[in-house]
Amino acid sequence: MVGSCLACALSGQGLRIAQVEPVRQEIRGEPGYDDRAIALAYGTRRIFSSLKLWHDMEAGATPIHQIHVSDRGHFGAVRMDRTEEGLPAIGYVVPAHVIGQVLADAVSRLGDVDMYCPASVAATSQAADRVQVELARQEGTASVSAQLVVAADGADSVLREQAGIDSVHTDYGQTAIVTNITPQLPHRNIAYERFTDSGPLAVLPMSAGRCAVVWTVASGQADAVMALGDAAFLEQLQARFGQRLGRLQRAGRRQAWPLRLLSARRSAGRRLALVGNAVHTLHPIAGQGFNLGARDVAVLAEVVVDALRASQDPGSSRVLARYTDWRRRDHENVTLFTDGLARLFTLSAPGLGVARGAGMVALDLVPPAKRLLTRLTMGRSGRMPRLSRGLPL
Ligand SMILES: Cc1cc2nc3c(=O)[nH]c(=O)nc-3n(C[C@H](O)[C@H](O)[C@H](O)COP(=O)(O)OP(=O)(O)OC[C@H]3O[C@@H](n4cnc5c(N)ncnc54)[C@H](O)[C@@H]3O)c2cc1C
Repeated sequence: MVGSCLACALSGQGLRIAQVEPVRQEIRGEPGYDDRAIALAYGTRRIFSSLKLWHDMEAGATPIHQIHVSDRGHFGAVRMDRTEEGLPAIGYVVPAHVIGQVLADAVSRLGDVDMYCPASVAATSQAADRVQVELARQEGTASVSAQLVVAADGADSVLREQAGIDSVHTDYGQTAIVTNITPQLPHRNIAYERFTDSGPLAVLPMSAGRCAVVWTVASGQADAVMALGDAAFLEQLQARFGQRLGRLQRAGRRQAWPLRLLSARRSAGRRLALVGNAVHTLHPIAGQGFNLGARDVAVLAEVVVDALRASQDPGSSRVLARYTDWRRRDHENVTLFTDGLARLFTLSAPGLGVARGAGMVALDLVPPAKRLLTRLTMGRSGRMPRLSRGLPL
């Protein structure tokens, strides 16, 4: 998804772009009750609007009007509301297949993007002012030469590894159980983040009265939760979520995602820029991973286009340093925020629940602190690139 965003952003700027993808779009899953949802921050909607892609996504999007954060069994809650920022929504919940389809359709219409699919990057070699990229395909190998290579190849990035860029890994020992449910009461466009004894639980508003559930459990318990019948699963979920949405009724198919933190030590190498999960793979507790990747795209596209306008080489170390310097703060802040939250709300030391509750009450009552949190969640903090401000590149 992040790679396709970048192809859309850089199209029409006088470049020739090659996109390489091993998995065909049509075998990635059909729409249905079980759609996996992605929470898009308002800032990401801005980026998609600037790229003229939001219109096609909007029909499948459910706006988030309020975020309600609570700790099961303890007092205190934080509420973030769209009215505090004067915007129509804090964010949107969009099925991943809608985002994927809109991006794939858009890329297929771009005359300056050559799509290699199914194909994967096998090896790269550096020449003085270009990189040679060898592609593995069913019908044999192919080769492309480029001034700049962008690694948007996910957490296990081959390009990152081949460039010798180290990364910090933490296995959280947790697994996210992802499913959709239908509650008895309307969700009223509220996203719930609830911290429970077995791990954080997110319940996000979706279309047709559904809610997307991301429930984090200790990995040792994941098999048992996956094996539960639907009625027993809903009962356990209800016990942790409480009665805010009435009785939790229908449950969809469950998927299990083992969770880890990955943070690359650098987001660029020689004629190489890293974006999305290839540079940061986060705990999904605050729904920030893709949003951070979309901001990588907005900044990289701006830096590359500015370089082209100034007749500079877009793959030069000077241009890539601008990208890494600009992204450093956002990467650090969001990684610290999500990792801190994941750790804070999975520890169970005596008295910690009371402290968390007090912290939440304090945060709810201190407008500047809460505003900062809301802006971080919405992807509207720090120096914003043109695409995030609704401007063309
Ligand atoms: C349970 C869960 C819930 C989440 N919820 C949210 C949310 O609500 N909001 C949010 O912002 N984020 C969320 N995330 C995070 C989000 O899903 C990821 O950050 C995002 O999908 C990363 O996109 P990407 O394109 O960088 O990487 P990926 O999606 O991993 O894509 C990598 C691509 O590279 C391709 N590839 C791999 N190897 C090669 C190769 N050798 N050559 C060429 N191509 C290759 C792959 O086929 C793939 O298409 C969630 C994550 C999880 C696990």
